[in-house]
Amino acid sequence: MSTPAQRMVIEQLRPHGVTDERVLEAMTSVPREEFLAPRMRRHAYEDRALAIECGQTISQPLVVALMAQAAAPQPEDVALEVGTGSGYAAAVLSRLCRKVMTIEREPALAEHAAETLRRLGFDNVEVAVGDGSQGWPPEAPYNVILVAAAARAVPPALIEQLTDAGRMVIPVSVGPDQPQDLRVYLRRGAEVSYRSMFPVLFVPLRTG
Ligand code: SAH
Repeated sequence: MSTPAQRMVIEQLRPHGVTDERVLEAMTSVPREEFLAPRMRRHAYEDRALAIECGQTISQPLVVALMAQAAAPQPEDVALEVGTGSGYAAAVLSRLCRKVMTIEREPALAEHAAETLRRLGFDNVEVAVGDGSQGWPPEAPYNVILVAAAARAVPPALIEQLTDAGRMVIPVSVGPDQPQDLRVYLRRGAEVSYRSMFPVLFVPLRTG
């Protein structure tokens, strides 16, 4: 018998380009239903974004997996996530890195996510309340940064908080009424380059 998470990996993730075995293992082991309100739990393994509190969403599993894979997290890495939401993506990332710092601007979401993560034993994740477009200087620099809300321009503070050879995955708005461009930025010394992955629809990164 396979679990719903194992079926998600076989049916939704492998066929759509998720090949990194560590990412697939993380996606198998994190119970997505635990990050949802009880009435949403029966949808936990559908491949779509779902509503959480404060008018926000938990990202589609395929997008979480592809973002994690693109960031190529290593076991000793320190990661920053901007936009904790339910805490689900932070939990996935925590299985792939040594430490995850995650920032959420809505205090109610941050509190709820911190409680869920604590209850499930994800003890290498720390949740903070704040404007993640400023990054989180106390724990910087980060080998990996994942941004779960769409920026109008890449926040300079986030580039500054990447290590040399650090990777950042971020959806960038390219125009009104258009899907955002999901990008992977790579920092090498003072040089920063990016490649586009695919169009996405994230909630906006609200700054200030
Ligand atoms: N990663 C989440 C999905 C997050 S949805 C999950 O797995 O469930 C995006 C989140 O970004 C929302 O919760 C929103 O409140 C938050 N957000 C938007 N702008 C932000 C900012 N400037 N700093 C921190 N969080 C922000």
